[in-house]
Amino acid sequence: MELKAIIIGSGVAGLAAATRLAIQGIKVSVYEKNGVAGGKLGSITNQGYQFDTGPSLFTEPYLLQSLFDEAGERMEDYLTYEECDELCRYFFESGKKITALADINHFANEMEEQLDESAENIKQYLQNAEKLFNSVGDIFLNSSLHKRKTWFHRRVFKSLKQVKLQHLINTLHEFNKVALKSKEAVQLFDRYATYNGSSPYKTPGMLSMIPHIEYNEGVYYPHGGMIKIIEALQCLAEKKGVQFYFNTPVDRIIYSNGSVKGVVVNHQNIMADIIISNADIYFTYDHLLGRKAQAKKLLRQPRSSSAVVFYWGIKKTFPALGLHNIFFSNDYKAEFNAIFNKFSVYQDPTVYINITSKKEEGHAPANSENWFVMVNTPAHTGQHWEQIQQEIKAAVLKKLHRLLGEDVAAYIEFEQVLNPVLIAEQTWAKDGALYGAASNNKFSAFLRAPNFFKKIQGLYCCGGTVHPGGGIPLCLRSAKISVDILQQDLTKLNHRH
Ligand SMILES: Cc1cc2nc3c(=O)[nH]c(=O)nc-3n(C[C@H](O)[C@H](O)[C@H](O)COP(=O)(O)OP(=O)(O)OC[C@H]3O[C@@H](n4cnc5c(N)ncnc54)[C@H](O)[C@@H]3O)c2cc1C
Repeated sequence: MELKAIIIGSGVAGLAAATRLAIQGIKVSVYEKNGVAGGKLGSITNQGYQFDTGPSLFTEPYLLQSLFDEAGERMEDYLTYEECDELCRYFFESGKKITALADINHFANEMEEQLDESAENIKQYLQNAEKLFNSVGDIFLNSSLHKRKTWFHRRVFKSLKQVKLQHLINTLHEFNKVALKSKEAVQLFDRYATYNGSSPYKTPGMLSMIPHIEYNEGVYYPHGGMIKIIEALQCLAEKKGVQFYFNTPVDRIIYSNGSVKGVVVNHQNIMADIIISNADIYFTYDHLLGRKAQAKKLLRQPRSSSAVVFYWGIKKTFPALGLHNIFFSNDYKAEFNAIFNKFSVYQDPTVYINITSKKEEGHAPANSENWFVMVNTPAHTGQHWEQIQQEIKAAVLKKLHRLLGEDVAAYIEFEQVLNPVLIAEQTWAKDGALYGAASNNKFSAFLRAPNFFKKIQGLYCCGGTVHPGGGIPLCLRSAKISVDILQQDLTKLNHRH
């Protein structure tokens, strides 16, 4: 008889997991509390401006490609994208600027010319990142760390040989300070700790592998904006027979005798053989399973950073800016100390600006631009965000005035704001943290929740708050890992059925 599966939540990982199950002939239903799919990856359109509300950086498109391949569909029929020639424009308070082009030689030479950092050194850094990513990254990102099988494999021994003591005992910042000479180059590569919502002053040197993804593999732009990724994933899932139920929160997961039985939705029991929760793992334990003690245990790991985002419709064009732009804080250490130790926002925060109208004119009215302006913040611990938002806005405008020589405030004709409390409300993310737990210690990869539940057969989880972590590429990986584990359990599940 046909197995039935329920996916709780339609974030990137939930959508990918749904398709992965459906193509195995399993009957899949997705329950989503919101009116639309996507979770943290959303979109707004207002006054002629279109904004992606969450993720703005698209990397590792081959992960999506392999999902479409496995589903027997041509990805280009659902989603098209292009590789960007330019990765990011960096602005430092010293007045120095780096336009990081995708061409590594060009980037390395630019670093030498602008920051007096040897081009050879930069290339060496990126080669080391590649080696680390292809060896250790492969184990940590593509398999469950909680299955013995992962560790009893010949490749593990070979891969671990790439790990040097400084990847383990040094923080990313200490690692970068040894590897690079200039203060600005250290800051530029420290920045990659924020890709999983962590601090470079706490996260291990192992994260020096992250720049490999951008510099060696490339940065991409999905035509139509990031929201097209969700639309493509939802279309693919529907094509494979997945049934979606929107505005339908799951209240509880039903389980007994060590096996999952179904879910409670609108006071009704809906039975299933398999459940994959794409909800924040804290709420999966606390709310859906009623396992309060285990949920509390998860909070021993500090939450990742969150964000305040301003969506600004700007009635002017700025040739000095590109698709991705970073205006660095003058004191990165103080900025991360504020976020992770004082749970506040530093007075001169680093500002990230994404402008998709640089790629697609239709995303803003004529002679205008759609600015996604983001500042990293702590997750919500009771702060007054309305007031903090105003302070951040003033600091951002002052910084842009200093570094661009323009009074940007005069050109803002549309504004909408996102903050940690709204992120928590909209996607049920614990305290509005973007990536669940931060990777602020050496063992964090092992402390992330696994993609299965040892004591409840048939229950799995995927998404940014479980292994291997947040961000679109890791969410896609987590969907694959959870379904791979489930496949290994299929004999048991079929037997139960
Ligand atoms: C402002 C911002 C900027 C970001 N920038 C980037 C970036 O540039 N690049 C990048 O790769 N990543 C970025 N991220 C992170 C990325 O968006 C997330 O890691 C990823 O989208 C999370 O996907 P997920 O599969 O974990 O599901 P989520 O997006 O967390 O969605 C979970 C879904 O489950 C639903 N749900 C929860 N509980 C229930 C329930 N009980 N019943 C029914 N439905 C439920 C929620 O409504 C939600 O739709 C950013 C995030 C934000 C907010």
